[in-house]
Amino acid sequence: MSHLFYLSTAARPVLNRAEGIYMWDRDGRRFIDGSSGAMVSNIGHSNPAVLAAMRAQMDKSTFGYRLHFETEPGERLAAKVAALSPAGLEKVFFVSGGSEAVESAVKLARQWAVVTGQAQRWKVISRFPSYHGSTLGALSLTGYDPLTDPFLPMMVQMPKIPAPRAYLDGLDMEDPATGAHYAAMLEAQILAEGPGSVLAFIQEPVGGASTGALVPPAGYMQAIRTICDRYGVLLIHDEVMSGGGRVGTFLGGDLWGIIPDIVAISKGFGAGYVPLGAMVARGDIVEAVQAAGGFVHGHTYAGNPLACAAGLAVLEEIGRNDLMGNAARVGAVLKSRLKNLMQRYGFIGDVRGEGMLLAFELVADRATMTPLPPAMKAFDTLVELAYAEGLIVYSRRTRGGYAGDHVLVCPPMITTEAQVDEIMDKLIRALDQFAAAHAGALA
Ligand code: PMP
Repeated sequence: MSHLFYLSTAARPVLNRAEGIYMWDRDGRRFIDGSSGAMVSNIGHSNPAVLAAMRAQMDKSTFGYRLHFETEPGERLAAKVAALSPAGLEKVFFVSGGSEAVESAVKLARQWAVVTGQAQRWKVISRFPSYHGSTLGALSLTGYDPLTDPFLPMMVQMPKIPAPRAYLDGLDMEDPATGAHYAAMLEAQILAEGPGSVLAFIQEPVGGASTGALVPPAGYMQAIRTICDRYGVLLIHDEVMSGGGRVGTFLGGDLWGIIPDIVAISKGFGAGYVPLGAMVARGDIVEAVQAAGGFVHGHTYAGNPLACAAGLAVLEEIGRNDLMGNAARVGAVLKSRLKNLMQRYGFIGDVRGEGMLLAFELVADRATMTPLPPAMKAFDTLVELAYAEGLIVYSRRTRGGYAGDHVLVCPPMITTEAQVDEIMDKLIRALDQFAAAHAGALA
């Protein structure tokens, strides 16, 4: 009997070793890590430069409590993150994961409001669907019923607006009127709440697990920034999944030239080598809070030198090998190969994403975007078929009512075009079996 317990009920083999985009179980079976775990292992597994940097740091020190010491890796990593972030985002606060980064962002925003005479601002508007983390504060922002339902009585209900799922609403992604249409929902929500009570708006610039790599329509990001400014509402970007280079730029917001007030990053930032995350904030926000006595928040393991040394080595590896460029280039190849699948399978309703954060949506019929029956558990089936082929992909059910299914195909940023061929061969074998198994229910 195993004494471990996880969410997954599927029996999984024991991992033995991993290198590059490949992973091997204890019986020697090889898998392609086609989802970088949960969009984490951005530079692949067992990177020698990162492991060497970690070993070197381990020989010096592995922990120094943040109230007792600054650390050299921490200083250097903060400087590197600030240099990679857009102008104005210059203060970095380390944490050990995505939920911690989101909690930190929201608490910094709130403390800033309190110290600047805006204590009536506390509401954080988010989107539906969305995922912002598993702790109770982050869950209050999360628009994803299966994860929030059991905990509702224990949570503060934060207002939600619909995520801009233009492809489902039959709207033109390229028309700025589409972006304006969805952004107007934020303005309406701010007005309904009372503008003076709204602290912040939080969004994933390129969506993650809850929406399947949702990309905003033309004009949306600019309009959101304008509306936030109009009402003095802080814009928080949850880049826990999209940040760190995966989308081809350091931050997802960079794709549209949008500068938020606070950003949360994690996942690919530690890249599977260490638990690491960060909140990156506007300098004046942090200075106001510090001048009033300091940020009343922190986590014990935050900014430990081993985690920071690994995070620094990950960013150096990305820079040295132009992995953001590779994510953009090879991601475009992978995306067009996924789009080609739409000719072969009528049940692929949409292909979307940026860089190496890509997904396709499974529907009963693309012409009507009719969702697959939930009881079919299409996403589970496809993931298991791919797994049997030795390809790991990641999937979730989305849409209001969760009748839709999407599959994230997000290999590490080091993936080559030849490896895209390998991924596609396995994926097509899984999709063919899926089509045969559900022939009656699919277009
Ligand atoms: N925000 C987003 C956008 C995420 O994708 C995740 C993790 N899936 C989180 C927050 C929470 O991160 P963690 O699991 O590291 O707490």
